[in-house]
Amino acid sequence: MSLEPERLERFARHIVLPEIGGAGQVALAGKHLVLVGLGGIGSPALQYLAGAGIGKLTLVDDDRVDASNLQRQTLYNSRDVGHGKAVIAKRWVTGFDPALDVAISDRRITAENAHELVVGADLVLDGTDNFATRLAVSDACVAERVPLLSAAVGRFQGQVGAFAGHLPDQACYRCFVGDAFDAEDCDTCAEDGMLGAMAGWVATFAALQAVRVLLKDVSALGEADWGRVHLLDGLAPAMRSFTIAKDPECRACGSAG
Ligand SMILES: [Zn+2]
Repeated sequence: MSLEPERLERFARHIVLPEIGGAGQVALAGKHLVLVGLGGIGSPALQYLAGAGIGKLTLVDDDRVDASNLQRQTLYNSRDVGHGKAVIAKRWVTGFDPALDVAISDRRITAENAHELVVGADLVLDGTDNFATRLAVSDACVAERVPLLSAAVGRFQGQVGAFAGHLPDQACYRCFVGDAFDAEDCDTCAEDGMLGAMAGWVATFAALQAVRVLLKDVSALGEADWGRVHLLDGLAPAMRSFTIAKDPECRACGSAG
């Protein structure tokens, strides 16, 4: 497989990077990424993921644009207030690069419907803001054997981690956070506040990590680093990281599960 001349020009700055190269760009064009949440993380992340030439994107969000979203959710403008995020996000991608294949879902994610949204994907990037959804997405990823890149931000703290709980020795997102938040919506963004650029930092770092995971075994940049969680501190500012071990008692991926 090779790239058309028009695609070679579009991705010239990737292809000259030895860490990506032509092989990496061709691989990205063949990947399917499911992006859950088109808010403060999903919105800037989508712009860089589409820019990276990931060939197939499924965009999931049941929310509508609110005026208070505009200071950080970079896909939307004032005219979009009141309209569905998934539809607007698809329109943005189609205008940005018509060669990309985009599907959308504007249903609320539940434990029941999460499976059909993630099945067959190469990677799921979850940037939603409540634990019930995040755990439903994680459990579906484990069951459908799809890797999960989880990204979250609150005030000036962000976290981005890659999980492959379907593999025997790797943790899932539930191993990391436990079961405590399963039932309730822990969305605190509205009360806590959020600096737009902080959400953008976490989002673009998540997009970088998504490209890294998708290029695993393809080019030099590729590295999944399953179970590694990166913490982004916007106040210091600083980053640090640690590795999550699989919880043998985990309800989703443990041997008892
Ligand atoms: Zn687990």
